[in-house]
Amino acid sequence: MSIMDHALPPPASTTATMISMRNIVYGYSHVPVLEGISLDVRRGEKIGILGPNGSGKSTLLKIIAGLIKPWSGSIVFSTTTTTTTTTTNSNRPVIGYMPQVESIDWDFPITVEEVIALALWKRSGAMPWSNRYAREKVSDVLEVLGMSRYAKRQIRELSGGEQQRVFLARAIVHEPELLLLDEPTSGADHHTREDILNVLDGLSKRGVTIMLTTHDISGVASRLPRVVCLNRRILADGSAKDILTQDNLLRIYGLVDSMRL
Ligand code: ADP
Ligand code: MG
Repeated sequence: MSIMDHALPPPASTTATMISMRNIVYGYSHVPVLEGISLDVRRGEKIGILGPNGSGKSTLLKIIAGLIKPWSGSIVFSTTTTTTTTTTNSNRPVIGYMPQVESIDWDFPITVEEVIALALWKRSGAMPWSNRYAREKVSDVLEVLGMSRYAKRQIRELSGGEQQRVFLARAIVHEPELLLLDEPTSGADHHTREDILNVLDGLSKRGVTIMLTTHDISGVASRLPRVVCLNRRILADGSAKDILTQDNLLRIYGLVDSMRL
């Protein structure tokens, strides 16, 4: 079965809340960078988080991914079924997380297929690349992303855009219910960006909930059903058409001219 054929259990209702955040506060070295974030995410939604550098986008995704714990506030995950595949008692759904590529330091030798297979480690038990199930999944996802020819390449030899696609592969290979993508198209050329957005569309149609951060207003944010503007606080939240107005962008960025409108 292809990774794109994987069907999630049907949602209890199209409006079922998957994540409910209330008054999240977090910061570094006693300086808050997120102040009072309250956000509900419904199952199957596709949401873009838009904001300037340093506005807290990556921090917010890390909190949802469970990589960091908020100073205060609550984050509650709801599952649609009583039997869940989650391993923690926090009801976290199966999450695929793609970090911002520039935050990764590749000072060790590892191939593309190994990086992706590592995401399957828990499920397969043994070293993932010695396991047939894992090998098939990795080869499947590389094909979906048009990256099969890169399988044996060292990841540090790849361009930023290629590394991004490897990380997208790694985030989706274990068929997550929730995808958290930190700037999945930054630095990608037009063609790669369209490929990535097509893959996300396919996953979204299968019911995967997607949250991504972006700087690209016209190429990405304007094409998403829901956009959340963030700058330490949530400044706007709604449909791209309602949110991406000159007034809002002025408020968020302070400058409209610098944006690719
Ligand atoms: P964005 O992804 O929107 O650019 P971040 O969430 O990465 O924003 O960062 C928000 C703020 O927190 C920035 O001012 C950044 O410098 C700071 N910050 C992020 N990560 C760390 C860290 N590990 N240690 C200290 N400060 C950090
Ligand atoms: Mg960031």
